[in-house]
Amino acid sequence: MATTKLQFVKGLCKSDPTQISVAIVGQLSNLKRVSWKDVAIHLEPKVTEAAWKRAVQSLNPSPTDTCSLWMNAANVGGFTNKVSRHNMPSCAYHIPKLLRSCLTGKRDEAIVVVCKESEVFACGCAIARLYPVFSMRTDGKPKSTRTVSVEFVVIGERTCDMIEIARCLQEAADSIQMAARIVDMPCNMMNTTKFVQEAEQVALELGIKPVVIRGEELEEKGFGGIYGVGKASDHPPALVVLSHCPPEATMTVAWCGKGIVYDTGGLSIKGKTTMPGMKRDCGGAAAILAAFRAVVKCGFKQNLHAVLCLAENSVGPLATRPDDIHILYSGRSVEINNTDAEGRLVLGDGVAYASKDLKADIILDMATLTGAQGVSTGKYHAAVLTNNEEWERATTEAGRISGDLAHPLVYCPELHFSEFNSAVADMKNSVADRSNAQSSCAGLFIGSHLQGAFSFPGVWVHVDMASPACSGERATGYGVALLMTLFGQGSYDKLLQQIAPSRHALNGKPQGAGVDDSSVASKRPRND
Ligand SMILES: [Zn+2]
Repeated sequence: MATTKLQFVKGLCKSDPTQISVAIVGQLSNLKRVSWKDVAIHLEPKVTEAAWKRAVQSLNPSPTDTCSLWMNAANVGGFTNKVSRHNMPSCAYHIPKLLRSCLTGKRDEAIVVVCKESEVFACGCAIARLYPVFSMRTDGKPKSTRTVSVEFVVIGERTCDMIEIARCLQEAADSIQMAARIVDMPCNMMNTTKFVQEAEQVALELGIKPVVIRGEELEEKGFGGIYGVGKASDHPPALVVLSHCPPEATMTVAWCGKGIVYDTGGLSIKGKTTMPGMKRDCGGAAAILAAFRAVVKCGFKQNLHAVLCLAENSVGPLATRPDDIHILYSGRSVEINNTDAEGRLVLGDGVAYASKDLKADIILDMATLTGAQGVSTGKYHAAVLTNNEEWERATTEAGRISGDLAHPLVYCPELHFSEFNSAVADMKNSVADRSNAQSSCAGLFIGSHLQGAFSFPGVWVHVDMASPACSGERATGYGVALLMTLFGQGSYDKLLQQIAPSRHALNGKPQGAGVDDSSVASKRPRND
C-alpha cells in the first residue's frame, strides 16, 4: 500500500491531468469567483476555459456535488456554505468526502482548494486528516510513497503570502498525521517505551533536552497516579516533559496529555466488545506531543511545556486493586474504586506537576477521558471544562476555526465534586452516580489536583476528546489544529496570529472561578 506524502505548495506549479490527476474543490460561491488563470495551469490543454465555466455553472451542491472536467483525471467539486452556529463556517468537513469521489488515491495527485484566507487553515487540516500514514497492509507489493500536492487559491482579502500559508500548513499537516499515526499504532508497536522514543525524537528535532521520569523513579518522586496505573506492565510508565523557554517569554503555558497506550480497564477489566480500540487511549498525549512540535516549529513567544503522562493499564500481579489508595503528586490521597478510571489518575499527576513545578499560568489537559463525552457532545465536538469563561469561548471558537470542534461542559465543582466522597481517603477515583454530569465530574477530578485545587489562580482548560479522536477505525489527529489555533496569539506565525480567537488574552486570569479549596477538594467525607 502506498503511503501518501502531503506537500503544501508554496507557489503556483503547473501540472497536466494526463500525468497528475487534479481535484479543484471549494464552496460554490468561491468557485464562481475563481479566475481562469488560477486553475488553468492544472487543466490546460485538455480543459478549456469554456468547459471550466460550464462545469462550475452545472454544480448544484446539496450539500456537495462534483463534475468531471476531463475523463476521471480532472474534477471540480463544490459544497454549500450552509452551516449552523456550532459548526465550522469554512464547511471544510465536506472536503474529504469530495476528494474521495474526485481522486483515485493511486498515483501522484494535485488538490486545489478555493477558499477565503480565514478558511485556509481548516481546509488544509481537513485534508491532512484524510491521509493516515500508519498501515501494516502488505497487498503483496513493496511499500511505496506517492505525493499529493495541495495548493490554495485565496478569494478576497489576503494578509499572508503563499509561502507563509504553505509553511504553516505543512507543519500542521505533518503533526496531525503524526498524532494519528501514534494513535493508530497498536500497543505491541506503540508501548510506553516506544512513545518515550517518539517524544525524544521530537525533542531532538526541536533541539530540546527532554525530562523523562520513568518506572520506580515515578514512585520515589511521588507520582502515585502514573506509577499506580502503569506498574503492572512490562513497559514502565513514564512522565515526559518537553520545554520550550524563549528568553522573551512573559508567561508559562503547560499542556498535559493522557497517554494510556493500552487500556484493558485493569482489574476492573473491560469486556471483549469494549476493549478493542483501546490502543486509542493515548490520543490526548499524541495530540499534545504533535501540537507542541508544530507550535514550536512555527515559533512561540511564551514558555510552553508538553507534559506526557504515559502508562499501560494492564492486568497482572502488580496491578492496582480496587480499594487500594494512591497518593498523587498533589499530595492528595485517592481510594481506587474503579481501575478503569485511570486517565484522571495520570493526568492528576500531570496537572499537579504543571502547577507546582512548572508554575504554569495556563494549564490545558487533553484526554480520551470518558465514553460519556460522546453521549453529551457527540462524535465531532470534544467537551471543554474550564474555570475561565473567556477561555471557554476561545476554545469553542478555535474549534470552529480549525475544524477540531469543541463544546462546553458544566463547570460547577461545588455541586459535583461530592460524587467522589471517600470514607478513608481525600477522594475516590470514580463517581457515585454515573448519571450526574459524568464528563464534568471526571474532568473535575483532574482539576482537584492543581495546586490550590479549584482555587488555582491560573487558567485551567480540560478537553475530553474521547469520541472525536477517531472516526470509524481511524485516528483523526484531533487536537493538533485546535491547539495551534487556540494559542495562535502567542505564535510568531502570521497565519496562526491571523486566525487565533481574539476574545481571550494569553495572560487571562479566571473571573470568579475560584471555589474555596477547603470546601470542596479536601472536604472531609461524610460517612454515609
Ligand atoms: Zn479506562
